[in-house]
Amino acid sequence: MLKLLLQRLAFIGLAFIVSSLLSSCAKNDPKIEQIKGQTMGTYYQVKYVLSDAQKNNSELSIDNIQAQIDSRLELVNDQMSTYRPNSELSRFNQAEKSLVVSDATSSVVEVALSLFKESGGAYDITVGPLVNLWGFGPDKKPNKVPSDALIAAKRKIVGSQYLSIEGNRLIKSIPELYLDLSSIAKGYGVDFIADYLQELGISNYLVDIGGELRVHGYKPGKKPWTLAIERPVAGQNVQRLIHIGDNAIATSGDYRNYFESDGIRYSHTIDPKTGKPISHKLVSVTVIHKSSMVADGLATAITVLGPTAGFAFAQKQQIPVFLLVKKGDEIIEHYTPDFEPYFFEKKE
Ligand code: ADP
Ligand code: MG
Repeated sequence: MLKLLLQRLAFIGLAFIVSSLLSSCAKNDPKIEQIKGQTMGTYYQVKYVLSDAQKNNSELSIDNIQAQIDSRLELVNDQMSTYRPNSELSRFNQAEKSLVVSDATSSVVEVALSLFKESGGAYDITVGPLVNLWGFGPDKKPNKVPSDALIAAKRKIVGSQYLSIEGNRLIKSIPELYLDLSSIAKGYGVDFIADYLQELGISNYLVDIGGELRVHGYKPGKKPWTLAIERPVAGQNVQRLIHIGDNAIATSGDYRNYFESDGIRYSHTIDPKTGKPISHKLVSVTVIHKSSMVADGLATAITVLGPTAGFAFAQKQQIPVFLLVKKGDEIIEHYTPDFEPYFFEKKE
């Protein structure tokens, strides 16, 4: 049986239904402006609130802001997408030795390299050849399990120890090295758009790219942005409601992007130590952090580490993390003490 599920929209669609139910606005409250589009193989959504003075500023017209956001997202794709053959990242992947890249790409790679070290190699952006082999890359749709020989061959060219940065120059010590920033570029994009809104003087907003979110300030009437952690069970979609303050939130989950073959589910998250998709009982990992880029990377890192090592890692580093873990037919929640302040309502 072959099945591919991409259910990103469910998560955030749900988050907004919940948030609008909870926020009946007063008559004179300013309205929430909303911009939607497509980027990085998924949707994006930006919501913001303008003050009365800002409403008369033509620079802040919704058309202008949408055009600026679209061109910024185009730029990020041109820098970091493996789906674009001429992006900086693709040109580095094709290069024999090195390439000078933008500040943006080099800073994202730098964060990825520190996550590689902190996670003991579980998070590794050089895992690209394995991601592609398992059919989760730009070329192929997932459908079949590769042979052990092929997995072993690809594992030889995977490892962030072969990657270094000098200034803005990315350097590889083996020519086959191939980077995949899919686990962190959406988060970077969210920060980039949020920073742009801040530059415009907009301080009440929500930015969402495919479920990676960053929020700041309030909705009209000083109401906080209410978000939902999805419960991936038919008919029971909200696990928890949360208020994250001026922070970002990222969720990685194996129930969104996978294929099934002979009754086994293969996730798009690869354990670099085995060369295979992760196979533990983690349903989803949700991380809160100031930076959406870091939250995105951390959520992937903890997903690879799994429920035990991942939880210990989060606890030790005092990262607010919320895990959903399968136990028989049940789904159990685990969260670090640092996550607790963000719950908006206690569970019955
Ligand atoms: P999502 O797209 O669900 O937000 P993630 O942010 O967790 O997912 O990123 C998953 C993507 O990261 C995969 O599709 C793959 O391209 C890449 N990837 C897979 N395994 C790893 C890994 N161990 N370290 C870094 N990136 C990975
Ligand atoms: Mg990620």
